Amino acid sequence: MLYEWPGTDATLKPLLLLAHQDVVPVLPGTEAQWTRPPFGGQQAGGYLYGRGALDDKLNVLGQLEAVECLLRTGFRPRRTVLLAFGHDEETMGQRGAGALAALIGQRYPQLEMVLDEGGTIKTDGVAGIRQPVALVGISEKGYLSVVLSATGQGGHSSMPPPLTSVGRVAAAVARLEAAPFPARLDGGIGSTFTYLTPAVPIGQRLVFANQWLFGPLIIKKLAAAPATNAAVRTTTAPTIISGGAKDNVLPIAASATVNFRLLPGDSSAAVLRRVREIINDPLVQVRRLGAGQEASPVSRTDNAAFGTLHRTIKSVFPQALVAPYTVLGATDARTYAHLCPQATYRFSPLLMDQKAIDSMHGTNERLRTAAYRHVIQFYAALIRNMQ
Ligand SMILES: [Zn+2]
Repeated sequence: MLYEWPGTDATLKPLLLLAHQDVVPVLPGTEAQWTRPPFGGQQAGGYLYGRGALDDKLNVLGQLEAVECLLRTGFRPRRTVLLAFGHDEETMGQRGAGALAALIGQRYPQLEMVLDEGGTIKTDGVAGIRQPVALVGISEKGYLSVVLSATGQGGHSSMPPPLTSVGRVAAAVARLEAAPFPARLDGGIGSTFTYLTPAVPIGQRLVFANQWLFGPLIIKKLAAAPATNAAVRTTTAPTIISGGAKDNVLPIAASATVNFRLLPGDSSAAVLRRVREIINDPLVQVRRLGAGQEASPVSRTDNAAFGTLHRTIKSVFPQALVAPYTVLGATDARTYAHLCPQATYRFSPLLMDQKAIDSMHGTNERLRTAAYRHVIQFYAALIRNMQ
């Protein structure tokens, strides 16, 4: 669905707000664990229950209600406002966001800002800071799966060669896991630290403010846990391995699939090149699986669009700090990023702790009804502030 609210000044580049209508399924067998039916939209105890309450109906409905509120006040935008709601974000978004981005690109070759779901206002555990932190995605990681395969002679396992196809592929996987991609702070997390420096406890402040000196120390700490390790490097995840059919028969073919999530700055061509170098075995074939997705461009934080977004967040959530970051998963925004590479942001205007974030695709997904009011306020304020 594409809504166009024409501005009175056609020379201004439009504001594009994104959200997606589709939801992930409720896992069969878990329905009974929901305290309210997952598709009932029931309210109880200050919450609205339902699949999609957080991901991503709150943004679809929040944007529509904000526009309705503004219409009721007689507001007319100078800058055109576009609302684009895809229907297949959870399954790669090509028919929804892909088609919408192509159409919008034809009608509006330049956009002032694109805003999609993404970071939230995290109320616990960002770098030891007590204040809530509004994390605004300025980039997102890319996606590349690679298949490694080898073939052997087959035959009876009583007389094996020194290396079977299974052993060869296993060795290739082991070499990849033993040689992770280099960790670096310039893929997005460095700018998160720069923004948060004034707020962190005094001991950390010295470290955050001097990344040139303490970079290796920061990286070592971040690399120690999977969630933060993913923010500093292109990750390597062997996900499928197969080969052989019977315990006493030598395998003919063996293969493994490895999934890489590309940190901005690493292209899929460069990742493939490095994979071949590390495996260093001409008898292991390396090929891409599917088209994959390059890491997005990194949007700016020193432009007017980010300034307006920052100011709007502070006006609705005065207690929050604002910091840019790199989204580790994927959003529809990546499909639109080429229309507005300098100002494509990923942010959902909602206070959340880690437990609530984890519930997004889980059981008892629910939205605090009081928080929903802030979602509407935020979008109405953003549309006004972007004029
Ligand atoms: Zn979503």
